[in-house]
Amino acid sequence: MSGTTGWTIKAVPNLSDNYAWLLRDEATGLVALCDPGEARPNLAALQEMPEPGRLDWILLTHHHPDHIDGVPEVVRATGAKVLGASADAHRLPKLDLAVKPGDRVPLGSGEIEVLDSPGHTIGHVALYIAAAHAVLAGDTLFSLGCGRLLEGTPADMYRALRLLDALPGDTLVLCGHEYTESNARFALTVEPDNAALKDRAAEVRELRKAGLATVPTTLDQERATNPFLRAATVEELAERRAGKDVFKG
Ligand code: ZN
Ligand code: FE
Repeated sequence: MSGTTGWTIKAVPNLSDNYAWLLRDEATGLVALCDPGEARPNLAALQEMPEPGRLDWILLTHHHPDHIDGVPEVVRATGAKVLGASADAHRLPKLDLAVKPGDRVPLGSGEIEVLDSPGHTIGHVALYIAAAHAVLAGDTLFSLGCGRLLEGTPADMYRALRLLDALPGDTLVLCGHEYTESNARFALTVEPDNAALKDRAAEVRELRKAGLATVPTTLDQERATNPFLRAATVEELAERRAGKDVFKG
């Protein structure tokens, strides 16, 4: 897909239910690939880009095999450089650029802002590219769900989700898995009367029946439907009732 931002963004199905994300900055021709869980589908997708085979950067959100196992072969084939979290350098493929939360790194005509995103894993980062109106969310935020807490605490994940929730509503959420249909089943048990959620669940069923991706989603859509972005604290609910709604969903 290609939006009004001058960036083209493509989901590449990897393994059984992963997505790697291909991003191209039309202004500079720069191409980046996030979280290659395997090599072959990503190398094939690169061949279909305007400059076939060009890959400047591989961007990593966390160390799990389904997000990194394609890295060595993709690097061999393309010469791409690898960016990932310095805190996880010991369990990521060899990094050319080790980053930490708060860092800003130029990417084509835009830049990446590194967001601390622990919970699923401790060293997990989300990579926000404002110029592309997109965030590479890895296994932190999914459509209608969030990542499993394998290393972090619920408090870690809650803070990570709040950080993502602070991004603009039109931000595309580029997440690591096609989990939306099963997430929808859980979300409906939490909010059976949420009309936006019921509509989204029906749309998701149709998309999956047709074999299509349900992502990217947008933050606005998730604010309206994702129980993990709607888990406001009691204090926030009181503020909302007082008319100070910060969610707009
Ligand atoms: Zn993972
Ligand atoms: Fe994963």
